[in-house]
Amino acid sequence: MAHNPSAAAAQETDVAAPTFTVPFDTRLLCIGGIWRAAAGGETLALTNPSDGSDLAHIARGGTADIDAAVAAAQAALDGEWGRLTAAERGRLLGAIGRKVLDNVELLAMLEALDVGKPLKQGRADAVALARYLEFYGGAADKVHGETLPFLNGYTALTLREPHGVTGHIVPWNYPMQIVGRSVGAALAMGNACVLKPAEEACLTVLAFARIAIEAGLPAGALNVVTGLGNEAGAALSAHPGIAHISFTGSVATGRLIQAAVAHNAVPVTLELGGKSPQIVFADADLDAALPHLINAGLQNAGQTCSAASRILVERSVFVQVRDRMAERYRRLSIGPAVADLDMGPLISKRQQQIVEHFVALGRDSGLRIAAQGELPTDLPRGGSFVRPTLFDDVPADHALAQQEIFGPVQVLIAFDGDAEALRIANCTAFGLVAGVWTRDGARQMRMARALKCGQVFINNYGAGGGVELPFGGVRHSGHGREKGFEALYGFSTLKTIAIQHG
Ligand code: NAD
Repeated sequence: MAHNPSAAAAQETDVAAPTFTVPFDTRLLCIGGIWRAAAGGETLALTNPSDGSDLAHIARGGTADIDAAVAAAQAALDGEWGRLTAAERGRLLGAIGRKVLDNVELLAMLEALDVGKPLKQGRADAVALARYLEFYGGAADKVHGETLPFLNGYTALTLREPHGVTGHIVPWNYPMQIVGRSVGAALAMGNACVLKPAEEACLTVLAFARIAIEAGLPAGALNVVTGLGNEAGAALSAHPGIAHISFTGSVATGRLIQAAVAHNAVPVTLELGGKSPQIVFADADLDAALPHLINAGLQNAGQTCSAASRILVERSVFVQVRDRMAERYRRLSIGPAVADLDMGPLISKRQQQIVEHFVALGRDSGLRIAAQGELPTDLPRGGSFVRPTLFDDVPADHALAQQEIFGPVQVLIAFDGDAEALRIANCTAFGLVAGVWTRDGARQMRMARALKCGQVFINNYGAGGGVELPFGGVRHSGHGREKGFEALYGFSTLKTIAIQHG
């Protein structure tokens, strides 16, 4: 990616670390292919969660910027972008994906400084973003309608068409992956996008938009308006020019967005939270299960919608699984994101307080702690670090086993037999992902069918990111599906044509 050509802009860019300068002006948003300040001229500060230092400033976009972005997106649909064939869109997405791969190190560093994510995870996210673009680029000209048997003298057919201008509101925890799965699919189907990243962390989103434009994405096909949720986000979700909203974030905000979107009667995809279980039966291959039980709970310091925050273990192997997990917890390495250890900080002091509150709640209500990770004594004082905590044999209806904590806290729950495992697994308000560890093939299938959630993984968890696998939830985890071909159906609408020709 080219560095900012303006020396003045480069000088004004905030320095994140002595050896690294963000190589573009972070205070600009992108409307119609032009990088410019927010209409109101204001900015918001980004903090490096590893040490609490000022990282950069971003534009505080508002209603006027969203209006301009929606107009620019509509102009793109009416112009060059709208005239591209599906094959041309696909080729372009592939080219953007390859340019993302050229910039993996930059993106990983931005994500480390902005989100607090260890570099290896940031690299994996950047590669996943490229893979989404590759997948959706390849699929762009393979989604089509049908001809339908109908009345004599008629030919009836369906066409898959883009919605129009699509709105994308994404959170801070996996900006690259979520932009890949949502914007990638929307562009593949020929929509023009207005993207509102999170105010806590959005540098990789800004970098991605620059990469896409440098790779040749026509002006206005992707517009990025940074800003606060209740300003830019609310303006986007209520905008009458938006034909579809894709939202990933909290349940509380999801409700607000669904209500706002209802006013315009347009479709919405909600990817919300979770309290996902991994269920370990006594006959499971425990050696294979163990890394998944822990990593799926602690990846990105537990700030993952599909985090396996509940570990259900059949009673006869409970102590063995608990002790092996506890031993691993005690060996976790924790430190600043750029040190690239097992775990970095949480996104913010606020998130740190929320997690500490839950750990204190567990302790105060008499729960036993099976293990905690140790924080090194030389951590930067301003960092938002917490000790990862594993709670021992928690009642399934306890707040720690019911509410999404969004931090490195896992609860162990003992069960006896299939029926109890299922009852506990299904007993929260969420339903995003579940993992089942057993060698019994019939049980695998029975569990998979009876679990109330959007994805079930048997003898694995997460399956390599699963770009190809439809993803989404039921109940409070949301509705609609992203990833895989399902996303392409979601980001398009079907038109039926009946021709009477005698
Ligand atoms: P959040 O809901 O606070 O914010 C998400 C996005 O919504 C941000 O861009 C924010 O600016 C915007 N927003 C906030 N208020 C808004 C409003 N009134 N109108 C429009 N937009 C608004 O969520 P968060 O704290 O940033 O993210 C954490 C949550 O996201 C967790 O619950 C997590 O489980 C969920 N999440 C889900 C998935 C998934 O795929 N299911 C993925 C990642 C995160």
